Amino acid sequence: MTATATDIEKAAGVLRAGGLVALPTETVYGLGANAEDPAAVARIFQVKGRPPSHPLIVHIGSAEDLDDWVEEVPATARLLAERFWPGPLTLVLRRGRRVPLEATGGLETVAVRVPGHPVALALLSAFGGGVTAPSANRFGSVSPTTADHVRAELGDAVDFVLDGGPCEVGVESTIVDVTGEMPTILRPGGVTREDVEGVLGRPVTVPSTSGVRVPGQHPSHYAPRARVVLAEPEKVVAEAERAQELGHQVGVLLPPSFAGAAVKAHAVVALPGSMAAYAHALYGLLRELDERGCDLIVASLPVEEGLGLAIGNRLRRAAGPRSSA
Ligand code: AMP
Ligand code: MG
Repeated sequence: MTATATDIEKAAGVLRAGGLVALPTETVYGLGANAEDPAAVARIFQVKGRPPSHPLIVHIGSAEDLDDWVEEVPATARLLAERFWPGPLTLVLRRGRRVPLEATGGLETVAVRVPGHPVALALLSAFGGGVTAPSANRFGSVSPTTADHVRAELGDAVDFVLDGGPCEVGVESTIVDVTGEMPTILRPGGVTREDVEGVLGRPVTVPSTSGVRVPGQHPSHYAPRARVVLAEPEKVVAEAERAQELGHQVGVLLPPSFAGAAVKAHAVVALPGSMAAYAHALYGLLRELDERGCDLIVASLPVEEGLGLAIGNRLRRAAGPRSSA
């Protein structure tokens, strides 16, 4: 099932010819194109239905190649790259001339990362260039964490799918902007805020989404078909049963503290205890609840520290208003 050396050669050829390759990374599956081919990059936006102003991440094969893609590499970026690459960390830096504006949504900065999946690294090495790759799903929906998710969602719109098994981390990379005075986490992800701060030896800024429950602030993203409602862990069961009584087909992401509880809902999945296992399973579980016919998913927010920060961020976005998508 996992991609062979022949598959990787074939995928590199597809990239050279301006095609799109779905590739496994340790975070989620990406929809990749040659970063230096504006027409190929434009096809990514078309296939995903993604607004062209949303910048992409350029994936490169090694931290040593970073200087080729950016204008300058500040010391903080060097430190973070040394510690976390290959891995689920993306750095935003000043754009090098090699990166077309199509890939950055017109910005003079560029997001770069070295992915930590052997198949992605083999593809980057065989291809020899940079690969722009957002998640391999339609804009706004749940990111794919298996090759089957990609095939089910994008089908023939992608020229070649490399199968690398289920993604280990399961949520997207942490994005750190290192272009300013203060490093800023633009998106929490697979590398924790605590780890970034540990390496830099100082606090980093994180956008103030945590604590916010007000609908209307977070346009929907990472969202299953079913509507997502968030509840405090101790209120999840009551919230789910209330919605089920009102006639919804309710799916429940049940926190470990309720393990084994009989819940009057359409579908109940037990969440694993560790945050790493929760992140790994999250998108697959949201897809599963869709497939089981749920129209409403009740999920509990984890404590927002460590990987819980990224999980909470995705759940809040999944629960955001749908109209603007
Ligand atoms: P994805 O949608 O998973 O491909 O993630 C790409 C993310 O990287 C988006 O949230 C972008 O907004 C962010 N991103 C990419 N390039 C930049 C950049 N130059 N400046 C700020 N954010 C960026
Ligand atoms: Mg995405």
